[in-house]
Amino acid sequence: LLELRDIEKTFKDNQVLKGIDLTVEQGEVVAIIGPSGSGKTTLLRNINFLETANSGSMTFRDQNIDMARPSKEQILWTRRHMAMVFQNYNLFKNKTALENISEGLVFGQNMAKKEADSLAEIALDQVGLLDKKDFYPSQLSGGQQQRIGIARATVLNPDIILFDEPTSALDPELVGTVLRDMKQLAEQGQTMIVVTHQMSFARDVADRVMFFADGEILEQGDADEIFDHPKNDRTKQFLSAIA
Ligand code: ATP
Repeated sequence: LLELRDIEKTFKDNQVLKGIDLTVEQGEVVAIIGPSGSGKTTLLRNINFLETANSGSMTFRDQNIDMARPSKEQILWTRRHMAMVFQNYNLFKNKTALENISEGLVFGQNMAKKEADSLAEIALDQVGLLDKKDFYPSQLSGGQQQRIGIARATVLNPDIILFDEPTSALDPELVGTVLRDMKQLAEQGQTMIVVTHQMSFARDVADRVMFFADGEILEQGDADEIFDHPKNDRTKQFLSAIA
């Protein structure tokens, strides 16, 4: 479904991505783990063009895209088929929960408002927050805001959802509700790339786990291989430090 080839990204003289190759199959859940500051967020932001890579290419569905020189159409097309859930939710503060979710359908997909609202209600119901549809983000807990972030992504019916540490800003007691929503999505066959510090989620839900450090994917495999039999010394070090 998605293939990235040799993505490089440099900020000034800081090379943050050092040639990333990554393939994601339809229905696959890929977890990316690794130390803070290693470039995981930057990788996701390059995939949906919130940042532009210095070099590299991507094949997404049937489109080949030069990551360093995407056209406007390619950027819009990619964002129509790929949604992102952010660490800090990134909800519009002056819009209600419902409006936050329907917005992408009305403006991104030119859907009539009435139809968008009814799809947004279904998405809200799936995350158990239909009764909060007229609430503004400031009236909701972090966990609720993030579940609205997830509903905003799923309502677009994207081929892939990119999750950037979706639970890391949450109070510990709220993490479980968000992870449950994500697990449910995975079980429904949603293709996802999840940058996460939640090792239990990576172990339980991911089809493939990648260990990312210093701008490179150092090791990848199924959860058992990575967590129980890591081969790379950096992976071993990282896992023993967080155990
Ligand atoms: P964390 O787990 O802490 O979020 P990360 O692995 O996601 O870390 P990134 O946020 O991708 O790491 O950051 C990787 C490096 O890139 C850091 O050294 C950061 O300072 C740098 N960086 C990220 N965005 C920018 C930017 N817009 N301008 C300059 N440097 C940046």
